[in-house]
Amino acid sequence: MARIDLVDLAHSYGGNAAPQESFALKPVTMTWRQGGAYALLGPSGCGKTTLLNVISGIITPSRGKILFDGVDITPLSTQKRNIAQVFQFPVIYDTMTVGENLAFPLKNRGVPKAEIDRRVAEIGRLLDLDPYLNRKATRLTADAKQKISLGRGLVRNDVAAVLFDEPLTVIDPELKWQLRSKLKALHRELDLTMIYVTHDQTEALTFADTVVVMHDGRVVQSGTPAELFDKPAHTFVGYFIGSPGMNILPAEVRGREARIGGNVIALGRSYDNLPAGAKIEIGVRPEFVDAVAPAPGLLTAKVERIDDLGRIRFARVRIGEAKIAARAPAGFTSADGTAGLKFDPSHVHVYADSLLVEGAA
Ligand code: ATP
Repeated sequence: MARIDLVDLAHSYGGNAAPQESFALKPVTMTWRQGGAYALLGPSGCGKTTLLNVISGIITPSRGKILFDGVDITPLSTQKRNIAQVFQFPVIYDTMTVGENLAFPLKNRGVPKAEIDRRVAEIGRLLDLDPYLNRKATRLTADAKQKISLGRGLVRNDVAAVLFDEPLTVIDPELKWQLRSKLKALHRELDLTMIYVTHDQTEALTFADTVVVMHDGRVVQSGTPAELFDKPAHTFVGYFIGSPGMNILPAEVRGREARIGGNVIALGRSYDNLPAGAKIEIGVRPEFVDAVAPAPGLLTAKVERIDDLGRIRFARVRIGEAKIAARAPAGFTSADGTAGLKFDPSHVHVYADSLLVEGAA
C-alpha cells in the first residue's frame, strides 16, 4: 500500500487546450493517506470515474502528476502501478473454482503456493466464501459472484491501493448493508489503502474515514463524515449530504447578523470582510432550526407539511420563495398554518459564491 499524492492533476477529454471550465476533472492537489479508507462521492457525471481511472492508469491525465510514495508514476501503465480494481459488475472466470478465482491475481505474480493457499483461505473466511472455495464459479448468484470480485481485489497485500467503482450496484438491497459493513471490517483487518467510488451518501459515510465530495469535475471537500455534516465547505456539500439537505438561503450579511427580507437571524461569528459583489447565502442544517409557535423576534414561516420520520419530525416551511426544512419538536402543531423559526446561531454558516466563509470570533 502507498500514500498517493495528486499534484495539480486535471483531465479534459477534449484535450488540454479546451477551456478549463469544460474539464471532466478540474485541477486538484491532494494526498490520500497510506492505509486510509476513502469514498469518492458525487452525483452522476461529476468526474468520479475519471479521477479513479486517472489514478489506476486507464486514463493518462491532461495535466499534473500522481505520486505513489513520492515516486512519479504518471507515465506508468495500469499493470505497472500495482493497483487492484473492483468494478460495478463481477469479473470472474466461470470455468475456475471460487478458490482458483481468488488465487488468480497471486498465481499471476508467481506467489509461492503455500502463501497463495493462506491468503485464499483468509479472504474466503473474511467474505464468507469458504464453503464454496472448491465449487465452480458458474451458476452462482450475482451477489456471490461480486463477492468473488471483491475477494480478488483484496487478496494481494502488496498493492498500492484497492479501487472500487460502485461495487455494490448489482447486490441485492438487503445484502448491501451487510457487504458494506464487511468491507469496512476488511479494511481494518487488511490495512490496505482503499478508494470507494459511489453516488450514494449512505454507502460513502458508512464505509469511509474520509469522504471526498466531487461536484462538476471539482473536489469540493475532503473530510470525515462529521466534518462534512458540521461544516460543509461548499453549499453543494451541504445540500448533497444529509437528509433533508442543508437549507441554503440568500441573505444580506453584516457583522453578526444575516437579514432575510426584513427579518434578522443572529450569527455565531462576525463577517465584516465579505467579498464585494459575491452571491451571499446562509446555510443551516434542518437539525439546527426549530419550528415553534410564532413569537416576536422569530422569523414567521408558512407551514406546508410535516414529515414524520419516526425518530425525528421535519416541518417543511416557506418564507416567501425560500423553502426551509426545520426540526419540529414533539408536541409542535401549527393551528393557523404558521410557525416561528428558531435558528441555532453557532450552526448558521455563511457562503460567498457557494464557498464557506470563516467568520471572526
Ligand atoms: P457516473 O457515476 O455516471 O459514472 P461520474 O461521476 O463517474 O459519473 P465521469 O464518468 O467521470 O463521472 O464523467 C465526467 C464527465 O466526463 C461527464 O460529463 C462525462 O460525460 C464526461 N466523460 C466521461 N467519459 C468520457 C469520454 N470517454 N469521452 C468524453 N467525455 C467523457
